[in-house]
Amino acid sequence: MKVCLSCGKRFAEEDWYCPSCNKSPKIVDGFLSFAPDLAAKNDGFGAESFEQLFKVEAGNFWFRSRNKLLIWALSKYFPQAESFFEIGCGTGYVLSGIQREFPNLRLYGSDIFSKGLSFAEQRLSDISLFQMDARRIPFEMEFDIIGAFDVLEHIDEDEVVLQQMFQAIKPGGGVILTVPQHWFLWSIVDEYSFHKRRYTRKELIKKVKDAGFQVVYATSFVSFLLPLMLLSRIIRQKTRDNFDPVAELKINPCLNMIFENTLAIERAFIKCGFSFPAGGSLLMIAKRKRR
Ligand SMILES: [Zn+2]
Repeated sequence: MKVCLSCGKRFAEEDWYCPSCNKSPKIVDGFLSFAPDLAAKNDGFGAESFEQLFKVEAGNFWFRSRNKLLIWALSKYFPQAESFFEIGCGTGYVLSGIQREFPNLRLYGSDIFSKGLSFAEQRLSDISLFQMDARRIPFEMEFDIIGAFDVLEHIDEDEVVLQQMFQAIKPGGGVILTVPQHWFLWSIVDEYSFHKRRYTRKELIKKVKDAGFQVVYATSFVSFLLPLMLLSRIIRQKTRDNFDPVAELKINPCLNMIFENTLAIERAFIKCGFSFPAGGSLLMIAKRKRR
């Protein structure tokens, strides 16, 4: 079901003309745009990072490993899913991995920046992409799964976003979320990444439950690398005057391989049902009860 953001009318028509108030969303940079005022600039992210990300994601251990973890979570917890909507899809790297693995899944992606979407469009075929503010999602009981991967920490009103996700998910469906974890890892890297917070497991569980969901699984990941991560954050903090915001993405190929293998070992534990208590990030699966 679609929701008109002007008058609140619920409607099921194919096109986006509201049958009640006759309004329809604008098109910005070729994409259906539900929050055009925020499409080029907002305080959640630096749009200039997309080009950089687009170049490095496919080779970087972190993005590659996170994709494998998400693909596992999707097949384990939502084997029957027919539709998947990613909020904050950026350059579409996660969606392209999901499309390869689940070619029959109907895919939707949104980002608050239309710039990210034009990169995503190059990577994906047969997908609906639109510009949207996650605090105002124009759907109700529409999707089997909604994913938001390292997105919630960019938004002040994360609880509103979770409530909106709940509204947009079909009963029996659910969310897959990842967020950065542990306040003691907070550093200049978070500041440059436009983060509003890092989460504790307790905080995310509470917010997800308050939105109406039932949490079915949570684990930390990037756990074995936590000591190294902490060390790197301390060094970056001490040398903050010379901070290079893209240094996090430039990594020695040998280290990149070692880190990727380390995360593969972690993933093997997770697949066996282990839940890591600590780690740089947190993965959470939560479901909306069937009626
Ligand atoms: Zn309307």
